[in-house]
Amino acid sequence: MQGQGRTPGVRHVPRTPAHERGAAAPQMGARTLAGRGARVIATGHDAAAVFDGMREVWPRVRAALRRPWPPEGLLVAVSAWCIVSANAAFWHALDVAGAAMGVQFAFGVALVALHALLFGLLAFGRALKPVLCALLVLTACASFFATRYAVLFDVEMIHNVLRTDPAESRELLSAGLLLHVLLQGVAPAVLVTLVPLRRDTFGRAAVRRGVFLLAMGLLAAGALGSASQGIFSLVRADHALRYRITPGNVLVSAVRAVGERDEVPPGERQPVATDARRTTTPVMRRPRLLVLVVGETVRADHWGLNGYARDTTPELRARGVVNFPDVRACGSSTEVSLPCMFSALGRAHYDRDAIRAQQSLLDVVVRTGVSVDWLDNQSGCKGVCAGTGMETMSAAIDPAACSAGRCLDAVLATALGQRLDTAQGDTLLVLHMLGNHGPAYFERYPAPYARYRPACASADLARCAQPAIINAYDNAILYTDAVLGQLIDLLAAHRAHDSALLYVSDHGESLGEYGLFLHGAPYALAPAQQLQVPMVWWSAADSARSMGLDLACVRSGARAPHAHDDLFPTVLGFFDIATRAYDRTRDIAGRCRAG
Ligand SMILES: [Zn+2]
Repeated sequence: MQGQGRTPGVRHVPRTPAHERGAAAPQMGARTLAGRGARVIATGHDAAAVFDGMREVWPRVRAALRRPWPPEGLLVAVSAWCIVSANAAFWHALDVAGAAMGVQFAFGVALVALHALLFGLLAFGRALKPVLCALLVLTACASFFATRYAVLFDVEMIHNVLRTDPAESRELLSAGLLLHVLLQGVAPAVLVTLVPLRRDTFGRAAVRRGVFLLAMGLLAAGALGSASQGIFSLVRADHALRYRITPGNVLVSAVRAVGERDEVPPGERQPVATDARRTTTPVMRRPRLLVLVVGETVRADHWGLNGYARDTTPELRARGVVNFPDVRACGSSTEVSLPCMFSALGRAHYDRDAIRAQQSLLDVVVRTGVSVDWLDNQSGCKGVCAGTGMETMSAAIDPAACSAGRCLDAVLATALGQRLDTAQGDTLLVLHMLGNHGPAYFERYPAPYARYRPACASADLARCAQPAIINAYDNAILYTDAVLGQLIDLLAAHRAHDSALLYVSDHGESLGEYGLFLHGAPYALAPAQQLQVPMVWWSAADSARSMGLDLACVRSGARAPHAHDDLFPTVLGFFDIATRAYDRTRDIAGRCRAG
């Protein structure tokens, strides 16, 4: 209060125009104006007068800004900023849906009120400014990915974000992201820190906050009620709409994610298929080796063997693999797919918490006496190998394939070669590829595989045209194909086991269709590009004969629809593991095995 008028007024007395001065003013004012007259005439317009006017107004604005704000005023201001600046994807969706201006306005008012209410529950007392600053930066980050890649923030996406490892985070950082966060998050956050706040006793502040929350609730209800028909028909028509409202999407999904069950210690997991036993063992036959390759982010329609216009799979084609053209992933992200494809529940009985609370396929297999190992060239096994262990790929295994903490997938071929030297008895090796992990597709393959050009060479996909993004993506598939070819050659030369290789990608990827990029859309809304994945089976003719496996039969059934859910019975079937949990009809080789 004290600064209002006094501070600026005193400093500006000598320059104050005549009409605001007292009786002595005319003389001084006349001198001042006369002195400036030459400048005004010289410039030919009244810029100096405008400048002078601004000098008059600015102190008053500054004084107003210095007047202490009620904390709730700041909540509304920050909420309004978020809704207006960080929701381009949401407003665009309303435009596309043809929402009337009145409906859009009501929706906007309701969202500002609801977010002010939400912020009012999270930020109070001395924590007000730090919480609001954090929310502004968080909102800016979320809006960047929502507008650039049409990312929808549901619970699973929050899990994906929380499980992102440092190498993945580094790849997501870009100049575009930093600039966006600086302008949309950090700059307003700095302003927030400058706003003076009214200080009240705890009791008065609590009462005022209570009234404020109630008022915001009523305002939101009133706004929604005023255009309820329009708003609810929009929400019904576009199920993705609510995941676009930033930062409410992130906050609500984060609260739900925290409420969900996290990793369950291996010893506390519910046993699965406790009756499982091998009906044949290496005492009765040759030992078996299955290399199960879990691919990353490869979509079915860019797979050469599936009829894609580009032959992205020449090596697999040359090796006569059995190709499965119609395979549906259990989820649209590693976080969902990986636990699901190794569980007895699968997508058919999908329940995130139940899957995490249960043993995985690997636990069942290892219990029957098969040796199991997981070789990881990515962000871990998502709990699947908790009971069996995992080896992370590194430069120690293959210095030529690794640099800056990341390894090309060739490292898996080197690691497999080493394992084959020592593998004994029935063995299951899971190889987890880095594959087409985006958005830095161009870093997934070495130079000789840059066949399709120009290839996008940025992790910020907005800097590249769609054809260049697709070129980089296809080059990465070409490299995956080459690595799979190497793995097959290693197995073909390996005589100690009857061996086979099964490759299946964990999920697909959007490359700009419907404005979507990357993956992780909610399962019910995910487009085919994110859910249809390639799968191939290979085994040497002599291994197949020795195992009593009719490869022509496997090939003849390959065109039928398949899914990640087939993995569980297929692996059990390969090792002749009998259990009530085994579903022969879902085993891709179930009807093709002798005996
Ligand atoms: Zn993945």
